Amino acid sequence: MYDREPSPASYSAVLMGSLIVLKLAEHNATLAQSVFRLISQLEQVFTVNRAQSEVMAINHAAGQHPVVVSAQVFNLIALAKRVSLLPASAFNLAIGPLVKRWKIGFQGDSVPPADEIAALLLLTDPHQVILDVDAQTVFLSQPGMEIDLGAIAKGYIADRVCDYLRLQQVSQALINLGGNVHTLGSATNETGWAIGVKAPFAAAEALIGFLTVRDQSVVTSGIYERYFLQDNHCYHHILDPNTGYPLDNELLSVTVVSDRSIDGDIYTTLLYGMGITQGCKFLADKPGISALFVTRDRQVILSDADQLHFTLLDNRYQLASPTP
Ligand code: AMP
Ligand code: MG
Repeated sequence: MYDREPSPASYSAVLMGSLIVLKLAEHNATLAQSVFRLISQLEQVFTVNRAQSEVMAINHAAGQHPVVVSAQVFNLIALAKRVSLLPASAFNLAIGPLVKRWKIGFQGDSVPPADEIAALLLLTDPHQVILDVDAQTVFLSQPGMEIDLGAIAKGYIADRVCDYLRLQQVSQALINLGGNVHTLGSATNETGWAIGVKAPFAAAEALIGFLTVRDQSVVTSGIYERYFLQDNHCYHHILDPNTGYPLDNELLSVTVVSDRSIDGDIYTTLLYGMGITQGCKFLADKPGISALFVTRDRQVILSDADQLHFTLLDNRYQLASPTP
């Protein structure tokens, strides 16, 4: 995900292991600082890449006792559990033990022995994430279980940033959290924001094309974001909750355009698991949410050509229609 718009005021910071970019219509360094502070505070609540966070407190108490959490953590976990329990969902909030074992994109990543994967799969049942609404507690019923909100935390945070900017009366802005872009208004008063769709496994700035959006979020999940190669096989960071191995299908990336970034983040993972045909059917009755799929054989498929404003730049890729 890459925003192509030159902007009068652009601010950046490295947070959550990513380059974060905020674009505003007018210079306002104080506002930019408050936005980066908000992102940093939210990261400290949801991260599982540090020893301490609200989510890690739940993980540390797995198999021992329920943990009281803040309303925002409780609500995001409740949503993540509901999505995990959808029929044939590729999303699983309890995937943590497998993510930690594979270490994909981190030092020491390697293919775990099959018996270890089988044993860890037993620790990923979303039913065993026990929520108590009245007590506002989360309990992981087996020792070794771990919640991982890495697939949706950026979407949640992007929405909070836009809420905050609206409160500050900002009407034109773009926040890029690395993989998640959210926009307010448009770059100029006529056009929308141009958001680049990255070419998989290419130079960092190489684009397949760009989407034009206003007041919308654009989220991409791609297998090229974090992966390692072993014996000519690409092991990437989106795991299949049924097998414990990286999801294996025709897709290189899925990009979702939606009003809320949390929806984009949820749907990229779900659609990744569904593939193109089933994914397009699934989106047919979801107005306001559309997807752009990039396949291994360099096709770009739009779930809804009327809703998505996409311009192809790289002629090695081909725009194609979804097969019914
Ligand atoms: P994203 O970049 O939004 O596609 O999220 C990828 C991250 O989500 C991974 O790095 C893991 O932390 C986590 N993850 C991997 N597989 C799954 C899954 N099947 N369900 C939920 N989260 C996952
Ligand atoms: Mg995601």
